[in-house]
Amino acid sequence: MKNLNNGSIKLAIQKNGRLTESTLGLLKSAGLEFEIYKQQLFSSCWNFPLNIIYLRDDDIPDYVASGAVDLGIVGENIILEQKSKVSIQLKLGFGYCSLCLAVPKESFITSSSELNNKKIATSYPQSTKRYLDEKGIEGEIVKINGSVEIAPALAMADAVIDLVSSGSTLALNDLRVIERIFNSQAVLIKNTYLSKEKKVIVQKLLTRLNGVLAAQNYKYVMMNAPTSILKIIQKIVPGLKSPTVSPLSTKGWISIQTVIKEDIFWETIEKLKEAGATGILVLPVEKLIL
Ligand code: ATP
Ligand code: ZN
Repeated sequence: MKNLNNGSIKLAIQKNGRLTESTLGLLKSAGLEFEIYKQQLFSSCWNFPLNIIYLRDDDIPDYVASGAVDLGIVGENIILEQKSKVSIQLKLGFGYCSLCLAVPKESFITSSSELNNKKIATSYPQSTKRYLDEKGIEGEIVKINGSVEIAPALAMADAVIDLVSSGSTLALNDLRVIERIFNSQAVLIKNTYLSKEKKVIVQKLLTRLNGVLAAQNYKYVMMNAPTSILKIIQKIVPGLKSPTVSPLSTKGWISIQTVIKEDIFWETIEKLKEAGATGILVLPVEKLIL
């Protein structure tokens, strides 16, 4: 039996589910090399002091809180449900979903205030109880572990509180969302009492993950422009510090290189074109260390 307490840090991730593929993708993008095959309980990285442990997502917060593992990747929704004593280190930008209140399409219920004495099916009883308490509603919580959407059709409940991403599962079951309770995404969680040695390794891992996540928010842009409009372009794209400017062999023209944030990408490109930039070339950023 391999000893996993060998000075490496331990990261728990979902064994098989919605978060697994994106989690493994993120770790690989961060340059971590390890092998994965089915039925495996853990993988050891060979180029970083890290063991990856594969668990059910619901178990991950307790493993991290108790120190059985040092880090975990789970949906925020599970941390909120379990009120786990762990610290959230990073939001990871995938696994987006919302905990929503939904009712059958033909239901006369139109808002949470009409839930008094109604039955609400959910896999998230603690979050549901908190929500009802905050609203001062006396509802009956019916705990179901999976396929919550079917409960109204079976007359087990009048409403459901469940995770929704695209909403297609709800629509398929003739349910409509009437309230969004909270939004969630995958997060990196950490045990709160790490040794000094482990903190150093965790910090290195965080730098790598931050590099990948920051890169996802930026595009690298190169363009040509008449020298006369450089000041205007600098105003449109300030870059991380300032754009890189080099002369073109055509007199009176320059080449400008910079980065643009993904969320303002198209409006920035339009402004650049209006200002007179041409030959705008856009490339993805692989890593960005700020
Ligand atoms: P496990 O076998 O590990 O217990 P699970 O069936 O409980 O898996 P999944 O359905 O794989 O869990 O969901 C894992 C996480 O994915 C959720 O906790 C949530 O954070 C996120 N997620 C994103 N979109 C959705 C969605 N539409 N429905 C459910 N979870 C979603
Ligand atoms: Zn689960």
